[in-house]
Amino acid sequence: YQVKYGGKSHHRMYCETDPAFSRKFTLEKDLETALEQQQLFLHYQPQIDSETLQLNGVEALIRWNHPEFGLVSPAEFIPIAEDSGHILSIGEWVLRQACLQAKSWSDSGRPIKVGVNLSPTQLRKPDVVERVREILQETGLPPELLDLEITESAALSQPELVLEKLHALKTLGLTLSIDDFGTGYSSLSHLETFPIDKLKIARQFTSKLEDRQVNRKIVSHIIDLARTLEMSVIAEGVESENQAAILRAIECVEMQGFLFGRPVPATEIDRLLTLTPSE
Ligand code: C2E
Ligand code: MG
Ligand code: MG
Ligand code: MG
Repeated sequence: YQVKYGGKSHHRMYCETDPAFSRKFTLEKDLETALEQQQLFLHYQPQIDSETLQLNGVEALIRWNHPEFGLVSPAEFIPIAEDSGHILSIGEWVLRQACLQAKSWSDSGRPIKVGVNLSPTQLRKPDVVERVREILQETGLPPELLDLEITESAALSQPELVLEKLHALKTLGLTLSIDDFGTGYSSLSHLETFPIDKLKIARQFTSKLEDRQVNRKIVSHIIDLARTLEMSVIAEGVESENQAAILRAIECVEMQGFLFGRPVPATEIDRLLTLTPSE
């Protein structure tokens, strides 16, 4: 960083003065060793069928127990990992862990899908398809139990770069979802050509469902759009019974949110799986 004072140029680190920069700097440095020091772990959040309330799947969400700062949100450290390149090793670790966990659920007679967030940097890597194939093989997870969540901007903003990869990923037998759908300012015209199985309606829409009629209509139209494109649809961030009722009325297929369960350790999901009768 070069900071100019009165026309003169000084080199200095912001960390001496700006606490936010200092934290970011520290986090970036500490990310290097977070994996090997076993500070990273996964939580899993339930995804439920709107009609039956059955557990259809879980989304794997990374957590970081930082030695100095305590729990650091992925909303804070994933962007740092993206910028620094650490996301590649972290993302691979997440994928392997989540597949191992889902394989273990499947082996114990309770197959549920696991959703894994794939970052734009991971998706851009030329060998992404090969890496996913290897991890599926290595962990033995039936591919249909893996759902890769791709952000709308990563998928749709550079369609010519991504489309081929998405098709190749699909041939592995997994499913693809678009995360935070509706927030990416992307061109809808590409969506129809994409091999996407599910739209995840962003929490920003869910949280406004009760405010005004127009918000409910927008979500209803996203659900119609999914149906037209023969995609499934899940609403993220469902927090209230009222939101769930509205979503059921406008035929949202699945729901995810604190109302049905916060992200929890795998052992908590084990408990849910034993409690839910399997038909
Ligand atoms: P996301 O993939 O959209 O995940 C959903 C986020 O919404 C999670 O935040 C989850 O805890 C939160 N959430 C779920 N239900 C509710 C609700 O009812 N109310 C509210 N207020 N929030 C809810 P989290 O775990 O903090 O993750 C934030 C973001 O960080 C994720 O958004 C995802 O973009 C990223 N992320 C998390 N884990 C990973 C990962 O393993 N790899 C990558 N590349 N990104 C990840
Ligand atoms: Mg996600
Ligand atoms: Mg999301
Ligand atoms: Mg997100």
